[in-house]
Amino acid sequence: MAKSARVAVIGAGVAGLAAARELHREGHRVVVLEKRHSLGGTWLYDSRVDSDPLGLDPARYVVGTSLYHSLRTNLPRQLMGFLDYPFAKRPHEDQRTFPGHEEVLRFLNEFADEFRCRELIRFCTGSSEWSEPREGTTRGCGEVHDAVVVCNGHFTEPQLAQVPDMTCIEKWRGYQIHSHNYRISEPFIDQVVVLIGLGPSAFDISREVVIVAKELHITTRAPNVTVGKSDNHENIWLHKMIEFVYEDGKVVFQDGSSVHADTIFYCTGYKYHFPFIETNGFVTIDDDNRVGPLYKHVFPPHLAPWLSFIGMPKQDTPFLTTELQSKWLAHVLSGKVLLPTEEEMMSDVENYYHHMEETGVPKSFTHVLPPNEIEYRNWLLAQVGMPPLKEWRGRMYRECVKFAKAKLDGYRDQWDDDYWDAVIASQNSKDML
Ligand code: FAD
Repeated sequence: MAKSARVAVIGAGVAGLAAARELHREGHRVVVLEKRHSLGGTWLYDSRVDSDPLGLDPARYVVGTSLYHSLRTNLPRQLMGFLDYPFAKRPHEDQRTFPGHEEVLRFLNEFADEFRCRELIRFCTGSSEWSEPREGTTRGCGEVHDAVVVCNGHFTEPQLAQVPDMTCIEKWRGYQIHSHNYRISEPFIDQVVVLIGLGPSAFDISREVVIVAKELHITTRAPNVTVGKSDNHENIWLHKMIEFVYEDGKVVFQDGSSVHADTIFYCTGYKYHFPFIETNGFVTIDDDNRVGPLYKHVFPPHLAPWLSFIGMPKQDTPFLTTELQSKWLAHVLSGKVLLPTEEEMMSDVENYYHHMEETGVPKSFTHVLPPNEIEYRNWLLAQVGMPPLKEWRGRMYRECVKFAKAKLDGYRDQWDDDYWDAVIASQNSKDML
């Protein structure tokens, strides 16, 4: 007979909502603890920023989202729905394939209402502590639960670039900000801005800031950067990494060039951060941002299945992946699906690490799913006896990443909707999802 567990889910973002729905569907008794006043996580925009714009002060006030005001999705909406609840266009709403962030929040609210997740959420309830199980139970928020599911997201704790000498950065007299605290471009009017990074946030923010700034100097540790003035923009320059900064505002790059800058902008990504979990070392975050050991990015072998993490993977389609992870988790907790033994899970994790090392994949890529994202998702589906995904889902993701890189400015409005509608319509196999 299926078992019903008392489960605390920490966070009511995409991952927490997906987990709550699947756990509830499977008959578990779920409570979602959310520290903010409403659901949506990242997608709940907040015009405020942290009290420390660089994110160095551990005691700073932290805003729970990194969205900027103008943000549009960087994935087509077809990749931002759930299997049985697509992110469809609605009359009188934002009809774009890459919609604004408000549209995503509306979708998540509708999802929460449709599947009655909202009533499971306790808002303004920060989970401040979780401790290792004693006698088969786990403790969360002063309550006892059978299981705790961590869905606290990983886009609010700034990761700072490896500038050669951090002490000189601390003395630099200009303004320094991490992309987590960027909302609008107005503060950068007529400024000389040095922006570190080449990821999706760096791309979007640089395109917005460059319109108002005097000069924008983009610096990256990518090995094949063509140093010099950009062909496409009058006021963008590309540089190698920062070598040194001087108190008077001078920034020297590794390619020998230098500028006097007003602002250094860190679009350098985020760190995993679980300040509320005490696992006696059974789950750790190392300097390379590897969280482990985690069997298939979800279960710490020693604490499985009573502690789990949903939404760890990066560079992926988070809606779908968290949904599939949650289905697996819900089935494991009800006893319908058995996990391997602790030793077998540990050995799987070690093999994965070993394979990364042998193939030259850096440790910081531990939770980056591509190029194995399709295999991973189909593996999760197979665990719960569901058929594999249709081919278009994997192909659309890869094409979108390539397309964004190739088309650069304005790529979102050049996406070929008719082509993709036809591809999706042609794949109507009943044996695939
Ligand atoms: P979050 O959305 O961060 O939700 C975590 C929740 O946990 C929050 O509500 C938080 O308040 C709560 N929480 C945290 N700590 C506690 C605690 N101690 N106690 C209680 N509650 C807690 N994805 C896409 O699919 N498409 C995109 O276009 C896209 N664009 C993005 C743009 C930016 C700038 C960023 C930062 C991310 C983007 N993403 C995009 C990824 C996005 O983060 C995911 O879509 C999704 O929001 C991840 O959901 P999550 O639930 O894992 O985390």
